[in-house]
Amino acid sequence: MTSETVPILVGGQWQRPTVEEWGNVYNPSVGEVINRVPMCGAREVDAAVQAAQAAYASWSITPATKRADILFRYRHLLDQRFEELSKIISLENGKTLEEARGDMRRGLEVVDFACGIGQLTKGENLPQLADGVDAMTSREPIGVCAGITPFNFPAMVPMWMYPLAIACGNTFVMKPSEKVPLTVNRLAELFMEAGLPDGVFNVVHGGRDVVEALCTHEGITAVSFVGSSKVAEYVYKQACQHRKRVQAAGGAKNVLLVLPDADPEPTMQALLSSAFGCAGQRCMAGSLLMGIGSAGESLREQVVGAMDGLKMDDTVANPTAGMGPVIDDLARQRIFDRIGQAANQGLPVVRDGREGVPEQGFFVGPTLVDQVTTGHDIFGEELFGPVLSMMHPSSLEQAITWFNELPFGNAATIFTQDGGAARQFSRQVACGMVGVNLGVPAPMALFSFSGWDHSFFGDLHVQGMEGVMFYTRQKTILSRWS
Ligand code: NAD
Repeated sequence: MTSETVPILVGGQWQRPTVEEWGNVYNPSVGEVINRVPMCGAREVDAAVQAAQAAYASWSITPATKRADILFRYRHLLDQRFEELSKIISLENGKTLEEARGDMRRGLEVVDFACGIGQLTKGENLPQLADGVDAMTSREPIGVCAGITPFNFPAMVPMWMYPLAIACGNTFVMKPSEKVPLTVNRLAELFMEAGLPDGVFNVVHGGRDVVEALCTHEGITAVSFVGSSKVAEYVYKQACQHRKRVQAAGGAKNVLLVLPDADPEPTMQALLSSAFGCAGQRCMAGSLLMGIGSAGESLREQVVGAMDGLKMDDTVANPTAGMGPVIDDLARQRIFDRIGQAANQGLPVVRDGREGVPEQGFFVGPTLVDQVTTGHDIFGEELFGPVLSMMHPSSLEQAITWFNELPFGNAATIFTQDGGAARQFSRQVACGMVGVNLGVPAPMALFSFSGWDHSFFGDLHVQGMEGVMFYTRQKTILSRWS
């Protein structure tokens, strides 16, 4: 057992809190504990909120150009430390080094976006709105904001939130997933090094108790959450009841629909990366594969052939590993159980990820379950692992109808050369993100991440212009000078 412990950041000071409970941080590739994370509670949250409130007084009136200066320096430091950060992500999350670099790149794009904060928060004006009266609007910061994030993107998801919130003139309390606390700590250290004043960015660690304290603390104005739908809904209700602005992104069940005319080679690459990239632990992962009619049979054979080429390995020891482990033993057991459940319901498990996995680490092999229908449990449940379920609709219309029966409204993708079919699909699927001939239709920082239904609770989504709106409020000034 390691003696290393993860500190929290309060008012610019790194501290070892005196808590009763500590959690384990694993290297999922080998299943070893690499660090211990404090399971903080209301006391640590209160200290962080007080520090953020104290810093807000001057940060909220710091000129936008000065805030942007710090963000530009931060961007530069993140570039310099890109490889170091990617390795930390890979170590604590288990994703491959290249996937970890992708995690960083998507986060960096939000910092790029936030560097333009002056332009993003500029208001409007109308001279002579009435006789002698001029009107002017501005977007103002809202106060202390909180972020609560999942384990699967240790850099990108926190960076959807804090760079933009802070650029807008707010101060922030971040609670990363207790499973991956190391990346956020390093990101915070670099922000301080870039010249961010003490108390503008604070980090507390832990689980449920910290989340409860953040959702109910009177000093917090807004809560951004990303995680599973069950917790997203809870956070949404709890924080709303305590008069906060809330954006809460939840889970997903994303569809990959392949029409018989799809371009085979790029489609296969996109399917594989969507379903099995990051060991299937992406909210944008394609987990329901649909092939129309008899073309679905040959699609299945091609997918199975491609899956057999995927090699699981220790992603820390082997930076070129093809596929890494899932996050922990609990996740592995849960996914194994779901595969078993599908088999017990009579579904053919064409490739079974319970077999042939390395002895060390939390590995689940690439799995394909065939003949899934809307009546099976595996249809509507998010497994969050490398498990692809195959369905065989008879037509494009049936595929759309099935997709629209899902409780989630995150993402759907179609592969085809037929513009009319692509248009029909894009218009009729009930979800916030649609892909045409690409496997992961994740909007980059310029656009908001726009899940619907059980994939999102709230109004304004994370990042992009909706992110700016979420972290600011409008002021209108009418002046009469004669
Ligand atoms: P999770 O819901 O278990 O945890 C998310 C956060 O909530 C963590 O910080 C955790 O400490 C906290 N938490 C967990 N259980 C809680 C509880 N009972 N009460 C209060 N707080 C609690 O999610 P995860 O397993 O870390 O991440 C995977 C999930 O995140 C998947 O469902 C995935 O689809 C989703 N996700 C969604 C998006 C999106 O943009 N929609 C992006 C990434 C991940």
